[in-house]
Amino acid sequence: MSTTDCIFCKIVAGDIPATKVVETDHVIAFRDIAPKAPVHVLVASKQHVPNVAAAAREIPDVLAEMAQVAQQIADAECDGEYRLIFNTGATAGQSVFHVHGHVLGGAALGWEPA
Ligand code: AMP
Repeated sequence: MSTTDCIFCKIVAGDIPATKVVETDHVIAFRDIAPKAPVHVLVASKQHVPNVAAAAREIPDVLAEMAQVAQQIADAECDGEYRLIFNTGATAGQSVFHVHGHVLGGAALGWEPA
């Protein structure tokens, strides 16, 4: 399932470009266009669900794979140490309502959210 006005669905479909880091049958990871840390990669499901709770409910195996992909990226790029953030809701900073985790690493991280 995808939505026509979702930017991450367009990335999944290849309709807009992204710098892909990992791609599996169900998960895509690509570099954030406005990085907040030396390593800032977004890990998203290919299926459109709006947030992490919906992913846990509707596609739990894919959410687990997203966590494994996050670790894989961190192992390759920042010694396996990273922060994984799922903003949920506009007031929490979510701007794209297609589930994605921010993998942040590569430097000592403060408390500022992604
Ligand atoms: P959030 O605000 O948690 O929903 O995260 C959305 C993230 O998507 C932001 O960090 C944006 O910088 C990033 N973003 C938006 N458009 C693109 C794009 N076309 N390619 C890569 N990252 C994007």
